Amino acid sequence: MMSTRLLAVLVVLHLAAGESTMAVDIVAEGKASCEIRIDAAGRDSSVVSFAARELRKYASRMTGVALEMAAQPGGPAISLGLARAAGAAFDGNDAYTVVAEGNTIEIRGETERGVLHGVYALLEYWGCRWYEHEEKDQVVPERKSLSFSGRIASAPDFPIRSLQVVCWDLNRVGRIIDWMGKNRYNWIEMLGTDLYDRESVRQALRQRGIVPIICSHTLSNVFGIKDFTETRPQLFAEVKGVRGKVVPYRACSTHPEAADLVARRVVGLVRKYPEMKVIGLTPDDGSGGWCECEGCRRIQPEGRDPPTNTGISSRM
Ligand SMILES: [Zn+2]
Repeated sequence: MMSTRLLAVLVVLHLAAGESTMAVDIVAEGKASCEIRIDAAGRDSSVVSFAARELRKYASRMTGVALEMAAQPGGPAISLGLARAAGAAFDGNDAYTVVAEGNTIEIRGETERGVLHGVYALLEYWGCRWYEHEEKDQVVPERKSLSFSGRIASAPDFPIRSLQVVCWDLNRVGRIIDWMGKNRYNWIEMLGTDLYDRESVRQALRQRGIVPIICSHTLSNVFGIKDFTETRPQLFAEVKGVRGKVVPYRACSTHPEAADLVARRVVGLVRKYPEMKVIGLTPDDGSGGWCECEGCRRIQPEGRDPPTNTGISSRM
C-alpha cells in the first residue's frame, strides 16, 4: 500500500514540474469556453498574429466553433506571447512551452517562430498531423470538445532546419511553405530569385518567420548570366579554345566582365532583399565543359574542377 507520506512527495514533485492537474476547456458542448489573446510583447509581430489565425482556423475546422480574439486582458484564454515577457527560462532557439495554468493556456516562444511552433504543438496534441504538404496527407480530426492540461516543452536540436525547394508551381510552393512552418523549419533554400520575386512567396515565408537563402549551383542561374549567351559569349566557359558553346550556360567566373556582373548582381540582391541570409556562388551543376581559360586554370586545384573565383567578393 502506498504510504500517505510517499503520496504527498509525489504530489509535490508533480506540482514542482509546473504541471497543472486541471484541464482548461477551449470548446465544450459546441460552445467556445475561451478566447485567443496575444500578449503585449507579441502584438506587433506578424508571425504571432499568424499563429493566432492558425489556431483559430484549425480549432474551427475541428469543432465548427470559431474562437474570438480577446479584446481585453484577463478571462479564460489561450494566450500567445514571447517568453522574455513572461520571464520564462529557455535554452534553445525557437524553444516553446504550452502550459495550462488556472483558466489560461499559455503558449510562450523564445522567438516569434517559437510561438507559432507552440501553436502547432497544441494542434498536434489535439490530433492534427501534417505528414506531407498535400491536404490528403494531413489529418484534422473532428472533435466535439477541446481541452488541455499539463505542459508541453520543446527546444530544437538543430539551430538551422532548412529545406531546398525545387518547384516552380506557385500553388504547390505555397503548400510546401505552409507544411514547412507546421514542421518547424526555419530556413528555405532556393535556386534563384524566381520564387522569391513573388510577393505571395515572400508573404508566406514572412508569416512563418522562415529565412530565405539562395544556394546550390547558383552562379549562373541566380545572376541571369545565361541572358548573355548570344550577345556576350566571352562571359562563358572556354572549352578547346571556344567560349560559350559546350555548356552554354556555364559562366567563366575569372573573366573580369563576368566577375563584375556577378558582383553587381549580388550587391543589387542584398539591397533588394536584406533579409536574405546566404547568397551562394557555387559553380553550376553537371560534369564536363569546365572553363579552360588561363584565369580559371590558375585557381583550379590539381585534379579538380575549377571553383568559383573568390576574387568576385573584392569587387562587391
Ligand atoms: Zn574561365
